[in-house]
Amino acid sequence: MRLSHTRKALTISTLLIMTALLGQAAAAQTTARPAPTPAPPVVAQAAVPVPQSSSPPSTPSDPPSSPADRSSSPSDRSSSPSALPESADTATPPGSRTERAGADKRHVRVNGPAHSITTTGSTGVALTFDDGPDPTYTPQLLEMLAKAKVKATFCVVGTNAKRHPQLIRDIVKAGHTLCNHSWNHDLKLGKKPPAKIKADLERTNAAIRAAVPDAKIPVMRAPGGNFTPRLVKVSGKLGMKSLYWQVDPRDWEHPKGESHHDHRKKIIRIVKKHTRPGAVILSHDYAQPDTIAAYQVLLPWLKHHFELIAL
Ligand SMILES: [Zn+2]
Repeated sequence: MRLSHTRKALTISTLLIMTALLGQAAAAQTTARPAPTPAPPVVAQAAVPVPQSSSPPSTPSDPPSSPADRSSSPSDRSSSPSALPESADTATPPGSRTERAGADKRHVRVNGPAHSITTTGSTGVALTFDDGPDPTYTPQLLEMLAKAKVKATFCVVGTNAKRHPQLIRDIVKAGHTLCNHSWNHDLKLGKKPPAKIKADLERTNAAIRAAVPDAKIPVMRAPGGNFTPRLVKVSGKLGMKSLYWQVDPRDWEHPKGESHHDHRKKIIRIVKKHTRPGAVILSHDYAQPDTIAAYQVLLPWLKHHFELIAL
């Protein structure tokens, strides 16, 4: 009996101890529960980097949007693709850098895309006129250049060369250099298969040589300046160096509200400010009357300060 009493007592005390322990454990669990409460902040903190990490990609996505703008621009002027300026270019392609920061980088380039040329390789400055020939403005420019005894380079579009063979003959006769500017100013030409690029460039050269059979075409300029290694390679195989530019007065760009007077002044100011020995200057003789007017001022100035050469 004693033993059984003792056992009972032991059992009861054991039960009591166990209950107490369980109670403590339960208490510990309940006190532990608040611990997850701070967790939400952790979750919240973890959520913060998500938008942060998603925001950086949005910044790099800005430059790609400009090529898209570029590629959309052809459709804007689909009626005359040859009127398209290169310079839409100036969203900085990879591998290129600019000489100056800020606004200047829109006008001055040190390296061209895919190692295309930005300078003449001498102290001579090269004037290059793109997208023509234009039946109105190319003759005016040719007359101006003849009077100033200056040779330049004309980057012609195949469709315009085919339409105006006499202007091709006039350009060659005057001693200027011809440059292949693609068949119809396809801004995405450099991304096409090599065979298509080759066909486009050969068709353009054929249009030029239909006017002047033995015409030399030593250089090629990508529409929009959108050179790719592939385009540079195909051009090279056809005997043409890839010609970019160093100075871009953005004569193709006409901001809303800019008067002809202001546009002309802008071209003059940028060319005067940025031209250095060896520079290749980009301008347009197709559908850009203010450019022709600007060169009436620029030609004497450039002639006075530099040696002007054809490429
Ligand atoms: Zn162009």
